[in-house]
Amino acid sequence: MMKIHKIPNQIIKGRLTPLIPSKVIGLALHHMATNADIKTIERGHINQGWSAIGYNFWVAFDGTIYEGRGFNQGAGVDKQNSTVISIGFQGDYHSKPVSMPDEQFNAGIDIITYVKSKLPYIRKIGGHKDFMATACPGKYFPLDEMIGGKKRSVKMIYNYIDENTAKIADDCNECLQHLVDNGYLKGNEKGELNLTLEMIRIFLVHYRAGLYD
Ligand SMILES: [Zn+2]
Repeated sequence: MMKIHKIPNQIIKGRLTPLIPSKVIGLALHHMATNADIKTIERGHINQGWSAIGYNFWVAFDGTIYEGRGFNQGAGVDKQNSTVISIGFQGDYHSKPVSMPDEQFNAGIDIITYVKSKLPYIRKIGGHKDFMATACPGKYFPLDEMIGGKKRSVKMIYNYIDENTAKIADDCNECLQHLVDNGYLKGNEKGELNLTLEMIRIFLVHYRAGLYD
């Protein structure tokens, strides 16, 4: 399930201008040109005199989605911020070849889907560069793949399988993969889930009952 997080101790100066949903026709994706975290990006924008972080939403490497200005007017695309909403992505996808982490990529698809559902007049989704002259979100940003909307299967290490419990049930891997792919379960930075046998059994029962569909 997608969860949108508040920026810890978010800074907003003055009052933001709400977007008029019927006027928002574009959605622009951005990179940061740096690996800086959300608070560092926010501080940079505040220090240049903006009232809040410029992006409407922001996606970290680990797939955490933050609400920036939300459905208030952003500052991502010069002179078009009443008609274009912006999603920022942690990282530098331009200066050297890098591949976006699967968690960040899949979260990108989730937040695009969510924003589209709230702003049904959006008819153009693209990189920042598709709205004005800029390199953003960078030549290594998986733009077409993300707009295509097909999620990647998140790789994980099946470390719950040990000598004694080599096989719990035929649909066990399928169940856990489904939970990972849909964000119900998240591994640590190594992709390890560290589940106990009891937890896996409960997940399986719920999975078969269709609770995670
Ligand atoms: Zn940009």
